[in-house]
Amino acid sequence: MNFGPKKSLGQNFLLNKEIIKYIVELGKITNENIVIEIGPGTGNLTEEILKKSPKKFFAIEKDKNLYLELKNKYKSDIKLINKDVLKIEWNDFYNEPCLVFGNLPYNISAKLLIDWIRLNNLNALFKKFILMFQKEVADRIVANVNSSKYGRLTILTEWKMSVKKIMDIEPNNFFPKPKVKSSLLYFEPRERFYRFDNSKNLEKVTNIFFQNRRKMIKKPLNILFNDSKKIIKKLNLDEKCRPQNLDPLTYFKISKEYENELN
Ligand code: SAM
Repeated sequence: MNFGPKKSLGQNFLLNKEIIKYIVELGKITNENIVIEIGPGTGNLTEEILKKSPKKFFAIEKDKNLYLELKNKYKSDIKLINKDVLKIEWNDFYNEPCLVFGNLPYNISAKLLIDWIRLNNLNALFKKFILMFQKEVADRIVANVNSSKYGRLTILTEWKMSVKKIMDIEPNNFFPKPKVKSSLLYFEPRERFYRFDNSKNLEKVTNIFFQNRRKMIKKPLNILFNDSKKIIKKLNLDEKCRPQNLDPLTYFKISKEYENELN
């Protein structure tokens, strides 16, 4: 069997013990908490999480070899799941809000985040997320309005979660050393958030706006609305500004207007 790191599964193992401890401390785990680790790999974070004695500890690892190694090592201390995390049915996962840790494989991190955001009852399912991303993706998640990194990922995250960047992490803290920097983000699901008849409408609206990132917002508004002038007036928009100049709340309002038009 080949136990070398697999590039296809984004296997860059975090080796810096100080950083590992710091990440786990951020979770403030108590023996009342249900913890989920995404991609435990060789168990670097796993070991530290276990020391905090959570009430229950699940770890989801796609790699069969690593899963078997961990299962052998931790026996019944951890409920190990050998599955693609993108195929987990979160609604049926556990009946208490869980705390999630993950040094995420780069190729699925944004998709996984969007899958979570799409869950109707995100705040009933999850307490907090402490996740490592490729820095470039993390910067898009926490971007400020009016910046070139601001976009769909920022707006969709902001809709359902509060998020802050904890720190950037240099490639030399991992093995094998990735080509790019990483960033650690801390998320808490919001209890109150803007409600839509169908949340796909927010996705559609942001899609159409950011497909035309450099164009004035007049263009996407004309695509979405029969009478875009009415919407511009009602929401007090400047039709000459660009998609990156509208804050998340404005996108929520535009999406609501779009829904009203559909009804
Ligand atoms: N947590 C370990 C650490 O920090 O050293 C490993 C992190 S490594 C960046 C990502 C881990 O996620 C690997 O163990 C990899 O096998 C696993 N993985 C990759 N794709 C996955 C998927 N779709 N579902 C579950 N685990 C996955």
